[in-house]
Amino acid sequence: MRIVLISTPLGFLGSGKGGGVELTLNSLVSGLLSLGHSVDIVVPRNSKLHKNNEKAKLHFVEGEDQISWQHQNYNSPVTIPDNSLLACMLEKGLDIAKQADVMLNMSYDWLPIWMTLNVEIPVAHIISMGSESSVISNLISKVYAKYPYNFAFHSKIQADDYPFIKKPIIIGNGFKLDNYTFQNSVKGPLAWVGRVAPEKGLEDAVYVANKLGEKLKVWGVKEDEIYASKIEQSFPKGTIEWMGFLPTNELQKELGKCRALLNTPKWNEAFGNVVVEALACGVPVVAYKRGGPSEIIQHGQTGYLAEPDDKKNMLSYVEIIEKIERKKCREWVEKNASIDIFANKVVNWLNKVIDESK
Ligand code: UDP
Repeated sequence: MRIVLISTPLGFLGSGKGGGVELTLNSLVSGLLSLGHSVDIVVPRNSKLHKNNEKAKLHFVEGEDQISWQHQNYNSPVTIPDNSLLACMLEKGLDIAKQADVMLNMSYDWLPIWMTLNVEIPVAHIISMGSESSVISNLISKVYAKYPYNFAFHSKIQADDYPFIKKPIIIGNGFKLDNYTFQNSVKGPLAWVGRVAPEKGLEDAVYVANKLGEKLKVWGVKEDEIYASKIEQSFPKGTIEWMGFLPTNELQKELGKCRALLNTPKWNEAFGNVVVEALACGVPVVAYKRGGPSEIIQHGQTGYLAEPDDKKNMLSYVEIIEKIERKKCREWVEKNASIDIFANKVVNWLNKVIDESK
């Protein structure tokens, strides 16, 4: 297959602004290349792919970022800035796609989904969020009625946010296991990883660490500085240890030294890459029972699922985290979330999209 992939129109790959999509894109490209497919990727200027993905052809585009949908109101209209990065990416993508079999869109936005109805090349979409916008959900519903195979989701629970999707195509996600080293650090500190933004609920994890009289190590981009400093001020000084945003290799080295990852999303997390990354290092995860993490974590085997927003319940599970065998965490990733498994699911799906478009 010759695939033209459209990246996220936020920041550049490697900046962390694109959240989990950045890692997902890299995993997918690795998997597609190793299965012998050809991949052209349209990306924002300054983007870098992980090593081993050199065979993918990058096409750089400049322009203004989109506003991320999780930071708008559910009923906000679509905004397209002047000199829109997304529009430029699509223009470039369409041009290259004249020689391709399929265009694969990884941006959660209105324009590429609308395009599905108006261009000849099949456009397939990996939907990376739950329903965050009425205008996008309504458009997905309209396009789905005509092209029921063109949307894929990371988890069943994410797809449930789009009730009009009758038989959702679930692709999970994939992780390059060689990039994560197992560490048996049962006595390490507590970790939290993610974009620091209200939908990620960092404050609940800090509450747990503070109750235990411990520090919480926090990795990730401070997307919302005001929110970050509000949390910092509501707990004793030094409870949060800000570790910054690290590339995967450095992140996993540090994360693997931790005894547990706390995962506290307040929204319907589509998947939760950081949960699998922690498991891959042997780090059990305590998460709220909502969104993707509730499909990933095996309660009592690879971590615990606390009642949503119940910080005390989360605390009680952190107190018994040593009951989890760290080897089982890594094993779950090997069996369920390798790059091969993920790429094969995506290839089967894209073949179906292409066949149905003929
Ligand atoms: N991440 C990273 N370095 C850091 C912190 C986070 O590379 O220091 C990445 C992490 O690997 C993951 C992403 O940020 O892929 C967060 O993705 P997730 O699916 O957990 O949430 P999203 O941001 O997409 O809502």
